[in-house]
Amino acid sequence: MSGTSDSHQRERVLRVAVPRPLRRLFDYLPPTGQKVTGFRPGCRIKVPFGRHVVTGFVAGTSEHSAIGREQLKPALAMLDSRPLLPPALLELVHWAADYYQHPIGEVFATALPAPLREGAPLHEEAEFWSAAAAAASAEQLPSRALRQRQLLEFLIERGSVSRADLALAGFSPALLRQLAGKGLARRELQRLDEETDWPRSQLNATARPAMNEDQASAVERFQKAGPGYRCALLNGITGSGKTEVYMRLIEQELAAGRQCLVLVPEIGLTPQTIDRFEQRFAAPVAAFHSGLNGNERLRVWRRVAAGGIAIVIGTRSAVFTPMARPGLIVIDEEHDSSFKQHEGLRYSARDLAVMRARKENIGIVLGSATPSLESFRNAELGRFLRLDLPRRAGGSRPALLRPLDIANQPLSAGICELAMMKIAQHLEAGNQVLVFVNRRGFAPILQCPLCGWTSQCEDCSVYLTVHSQPPCQRCHHCEARRAIPNRCPVCGNSDLQVSGLGTQQVEANLVREFPGTPVLRVDRDSTRGRDRFRKLLAQVIRGDPAILVGTQMLAKGHHFPGITLVLVVDADNGLFSPDFRGQEQMAQLIVQVAGRAGRSSGRPGEVLVQTRHARHETLKRIIDSSYSEFAQHLLAERRSAVMPPFSHLCLIRAECRDREAALSFLRRARRAIETPSEQQFVHWTGPLPAPLEKRQSRYRMQLLLRSPSRPRLRAVLARLVAQLDESAAPRGLRWQIDVDPIDLL
Ligand code: ADP
Ligand code: ZN
Ligand code: ZN
Repeated sequence: MSGTSDSHQRERVLRVAVPRPLRRLFDYLPPTGQKVTGFRPGCRIKVPFGRHVVTGFVAGTSEHSAIGREQLKPALAMLDSRPLLPPALLELVHWAADYYQHPIGEVFATALPAPLREGAPLHEEAEFWSAAAAAASAEQLPSRALRQRQLLEFLIERGSVSRADLALAGFSPALLRQLAGKGLARRELQRLDEETDWPRSQLNATARPAMNEDQASAVERFQKAGPGYRCALLNGITGSGKTEVYMRLIEQELAAGRQCLVLVPEIGLTPQTIDRFEQRFAAPVAAFHSGLNGNERLRVWRRVAAGGIAIVIGTRSAVFTPMARPGLIVIDEEHDSSFKQHEGLRYSARDLAVMRARKENIGIVLGSATPSLESFRNAELGRFLRLDLPRRAGGSRPALLRPLDIANQPLSAGICELAMMKIAQHLEAGNQVLVFVNRRGFAPILQCPLCGWTSQCEDCSVYLTVHSQPPCQRCHHCEARRAIPNRCPVCGNSDLQVSGLGTQQVEANLVREFPGTPVLRVDRDSTRGRDRFRKLLAQVIRGDPAILVGTQMLAKGHHFPGITLVLVVDADNGLFSPDFRGQEQMAQLIVQVAGRAGRSSGRPGEVLVQTRHARHETLKRIIDSSYSEFAQHLLAERRSAVMPPFSHLCLIRAECRDREAALSFLRRARRAIETPSEQQFVHWTGPLPAPLEKRQSRYRMQLLLRSPSRPRLRAVLARLVAQLDESAAPRGLRWQIDVDPIDLL
């Protein structure tokens, strides 16, 4: 072997994650003329890929490549000298790719604001100009170059001037180039987001209530468990002052100069949360959520990464925001399903946050009035520290829940007479009323009473929802719209009927019943646009008598001091849900909405739950016992059924316009992987049609894997994914994996 090829062999190659749906890394030589040393994982790199040039991420370097060196292509250019993410977050990205069996390049892309994926500089930079060393005086220039002379004089006098200031002073880019061409002016890029801190002495810690005993004990136990990684489940009833606990813990981190990340379900819905933190702390608070455009997100991201933001409040994607000096992570409403991403990388921001805290060796608090069974179980196993706040803070008492049997009652738009009377009473006393209807639109079904025809979406296997504002029928899965027909398309009958209830119908009815009282509807249709929602909220918080009609948007974390009555129009949906999480979700919803009642002291709250099954065991339990007790009961059921959290699930879904193709694709995969010896550890169901079998003209088939052993499940999953990757999927077929799926729809 000759000397040259020997040294070639020792030269390392770059392992690159490319933004393509491929579950592997690709090897490249360093850009021509450069050495591999100095290429740090997490830096962006431009590489040729097929016939394109893509921006990938250096995942590492290696001595060996499975491909012959002569076939390796050199990368084109390195974009960064420093990694975009700190080591703990790089580990998290790799962990997520492995855990969710997702292509690594796409995980990187998910973790970063869009402009960074497209090559924007890591730091916010601005162009500054100054006089070059060779420039001593403007006299060096011929007197006829008057503008150039003026510019040079300006630069000599002012030192370093930003491009923007030069433009303001009337100097054009062309002029700058002329001067630079003569070697008299110099351009440099300066970072604008240099690491910054906040004045610690100004932390506004005096304007805060004294903690009650439960809060103080929660704070103390969390602190005692530190420093370093620890995860607490803060199980506090609605209005128990969980936010105060978060703020005390945050205060200590800020005082030590560390940053905090607070994840909330939906920021557009809870502008109050941001206000509360801003009012409390004299330190920079920033919001990071999907309502911001790419550049806005990048600006916040850079400032957090540089250490200039003390508290970042964000929705699920904020879980990847790097902090220069990480201190604490808080997940508020940890049970909320919006922490789970439903497309692409189907991650749980809560679970990733826990893993992140572990990797960064910091504390994390998961708070909720209705914790998930998974978190209760983790507390039981001692993985989470359980902190309880069983009483309301600030003197108000929990509202009283009462079932209202409507089995044989006359209803008007779903509301019985007794409930109507109650609404009138509370309004007369000067209070506000919340009416909870968990469906938007006017009515979920339009049908013909003569022949039985029902109006369905052409592309999805669901009914079209009738809307009255504006009048039309809409599919809530593909947003298709159609006019409301005058007659039945099958038998011609012109007397079509709606059945079921939506928020618009209840709203219209209440407007008739209570003329003079404002009725505010809060659902996805009424709140398009953030400002609209803010205005609605402001009106409610002012506190004048009003009726709020809304979906679960109203159940999430709001503090409405004026509400004394909550009416749950129909509690029965969840009782008979085919989803194994149906009862858990129903209980969470009822407890959360009920928690909006009677939140100010001196005005006790009342909650009425309309049902046709007042004797149903589940409903009785929800109403009569605490949520924690109910959760214990559900946990026992899950244990005996070996369902999560006593087992782990993974869903593989195939979607195709050709129903049979989707089915047989999954059938083949199952046959190729399943072994008899594994059957006692991993339980296979399917392939079967998904409950929502057709969506946007594509049939959806699914295969469900369940196992009490995560390692066994992962081993099978890895083999299955490799098999699916290799098998030639029929044209137009898409498949996805959902590890720890939340809804099996
Ligand atoms: P949760 O988030 O648990 O539903 P909040 O944090 O919204 O509860 O608190 C409910 C109310 O109780 C708020 O108005 C809050 O200001 C008040 N509160 C919280 N802790 C205390 C305390 N220690 N003393 C007095 N009022 C408190
Ligand atoms: Zn008909
Ligand atoms: Zn549809």
